[in-house]
Amino acid sequence: MSRDQYTLTDPAKLYADIEPEKQKMSEPGLDAELNDKADLGEETYRGTGRLTGRKALITGADSGIGAATAIAFAREGADVAMSYLPEEKEDADRIAGILTEAGANVVQLPGDLRDPAYCRDLVAQSVEKLGGLDILVNNGGKQVAVEDLADVTDEQFDDTFKTNVYAMFWITKAALPHLKPGATIINTTSIQAYSPSETLVDYASTKATINNFTKGLSQQLAPKGIRVNAVAPGPIWTPLQPSGGQPQDALPTFGEQTPLGRMGQPAELAPAYVFLASAESSYVIGETLNVNGGMPTP
Ligand code: NAD
Ligand code: MG
Repeated sequence: MSRDQYTLTDPAKLYADIEPEKQKMSEPGLDAELNDKADLGEETYRGTGRLTGRKALITGADSGIGAATAIAFAREGADVAMSYLPEEKEDADRIAGILTEAGANVVQLPGDLRDPAYCRDLVAQSVEKLGGLDILVNNGGKQVAVEDLADVTDEQFDDTFKTNVYAMFWITKAALPHLKPGATIINTTSIQAYSPSETLVDYASTKATINNFTKGLSQQLAPKGIRVNAVAPGPIWTPLQPSGGQPQDALPTFGEQTPLGRMGQPAELAPAYVFLASAESSYVIGETLNVNGGMPTP
């Protein structure tokens, strides 16, 4: 079945061939080791010049949703700075190759989002090496499922908030002086912001925070011509899930609770980020675009 953006297909039948196995990876997980392989749109995404000449910084750009977004941005004409953890070099190098092939200038800036100095330097390096910044995608994230709150360590709670919330704050704050009218910020929240799983109390709280941060900041920045929006994915097949994001037993049926009856692929998220990054969404501000297989949201 054709998976490009333009062919008429039954969304309930799409990706029936991608079936996740039980597999335990250590955090942060590698796309290179994912079974079955996720679809990042490598073979299919077709750009139409919607981000020509834009300069984008994407966190978590090595794999999953961030990588699919990076591929789409590059094929739409953007240059891309990629943030990821040093241990994800293998994934990041592969994605950087695909972006370069699309004609993009690519800057690879590995580091740890829990470190405010890295977050600030990430922005400074992106601006310096790309020659400016027009699009910021806060996408890097930590999700570790724990059944009992008593077993959520202070360290996990702290790391999850640092990675998902504090880094977004540090990076956005550092980016603001560089953003001109027309610039866009896109944060990655989740269906978990509205429908928290019992095993993801800490993670889901960060996602509700991200939604609220997005809506508040969007009010502040709209008069300056900077638009802030969010994307809220549902269950998407990425290394986040087998590396502790889901209990092992949940992997084979991952996403089957959605009205489409299946998990989503990173390639199905990228067009939402392109839309919010491009001038096509000029009147869209403080919005959360839900890409979740049909689960109702507030
Ligand atoms: P992913 O594992 O491919 O991407 C997450 C990335 O976060 C990693 O590749 C890593 O580079 C980065 N990261 C994690 N900790 C970091 C740290 N300390 N320092 C630097 N980088 C760090 O998984 P994904 O599912 O594509 O996740 C992307 C975003 O989508 C996350 O914010 C996640 O919460 C969100 N999300 C995912 C799903 C899903 O089902 N996969 C659903 C809703 C929301
Ligand atoms: Mg990764």
